[in-house]
Amino acid sequence: MSADSVKRNDGLQKGESNMKENEIKCVLCGLSVEINGFTVNTTEGLKLFCCAGCVSVYRLLNGDKLLD
Ligand SMILES: [Zn+2]
Repeated sequence: MSADSVKRNDGLQKGESNMKENEIKCVLCGLSVEINGFTVNTTEGLKLFCCAGCVSVYRLLNGDKLLD
């Protein structure tokens, strides 16, 4: 069983490294953005985030830059 999970992990890692060149990173935590829609309009442009939690933390920290 453990050998099976090792093989699966290897496959996942290869898949991820192939996709990373086009990957969008969360502005706050740096994780890949897999769901569109967590965005914030700021004076520095549109920021993209991985989740609603990162959006709310960014809004708290950058309240003076928010446009919406
Ligand atoms: Zn994030």
